[in-house]
Amino acid sequence: MRAAVFSRPRSPLQVTDVADPVPGPGQVLLHVRACGVCRTDLHIVDGELAVPRVPLIPGHQIVGVVERVGAGAAKGAAAAAARVGQRVGVPWLGWSCGTCEYCISGRENLCAQAKFTGLHLDGGFAERVVADARFCFSIPEGFTDLQAAPLLCGGLIGYRAFRMAGAAARIGFYGFGSAAHILAQVAAFQKRRVFAFVRPGDAAAREFALRLGAEWAGDSTGPAPEPLDAAIIFAPDGALVPLALKAVARGGTVICAGIHMSDIPAFPYRDLWEERTIRSVANLTRQDAIEFLELAPRVPVRTEVEVHPLSEVNLALDRLRSGAVSGSVVINPTR
Ligand SMILES: [Zn+2]
Ligand SMILES: [Zn+2]
Repeated sequence: MRAAVFSRPRSPLQVTDVADPVPGPGQVLLHVRACGVCRTDLHIVDGELAVPRVPLIPGHQIVGVVERVGAGAAKGAAAAAARVGQRVGVPWLGWSCGTCEYCISGRENLCAQAKFTGLHLDGGFAERVVADARFCFSIPEGFTDLQAAPLLCGGLIGYRAFRMAGAAARIGFYGFGSAAHILAQVAAFQKRRVFAFVRPGDAAAREFALRLGAEWAGDSTGPAPEPLDAAIIFAPDGALVPLALKAVARGGTVICAGIHMSDIPAFPYRDLWEERTIRSVANLTRQDAIEFLELAPRVPVRTEVEVHPLSEVNLALDRLRSGAVSGSVVINPTR
């Protein structure tokens, strides 16, 4: 099969022929129809995240059709996600141990043994991929393969971050890319007010945010037009943390949604004072996936995607890196 292979940091992925993967017990073989490109893929390619093994096929927002079920996959709870011909999605969380204190308390996102798709496990920048059937999710009807792909990370992990904002009525989004353009629609559906903070001078991003339901869009370095109840930082820039803290009201929460962020500069304690909170969000649980994939068609979320064939995967990464993309970037390996 064709696949985009990572061998060393700060080098382009190599689009080449590799052997088809073979599903083991509990796994399914998927024919990949679409795979979203995430900022985490950039962190991997750019050497900002340690990669546990090479060569590696990145990509963790996979929409595929089950081609084959490994021996043992069609048993018990896994049976529903393991039917040949079924369309499923595979997210970042590809496996967890199921027995540690985190796994048994509904926090498998924090499992120390967890394996992540496109990091520990080969991902979806390929024509085929194997996945644990227990970590595959049915994709709601009404989404094309290409439009569904960004739901699997921008949507799922974005939704986990959004949930951490609790009942916040006024929410700031710092960085308006794949996750924010999905969650702005969810926020509007829930009658919340969204304030978009974008790169200074990025008029296209401001317009995009306003079109997707933000009531205000402005520069991330400037003040908020009114105090916010919560702010979610999607951009990987630690300098945004003190800025977002200044934007939230007493008791407000600043949520760091990315897996990697540059260092946070020092700031005065008075900016944290009055019960403001800073927290991070790590990965996702399967329950997050179930809840979000049930919610998305009710909104209904409409993702805006820029599609590239697998042969253009490095161009797709470059466009995401440079901030040239509005919405999500998706690889179509069938083209
Ligand atoms: Zn991601
Ligand atoms: Zn565990």
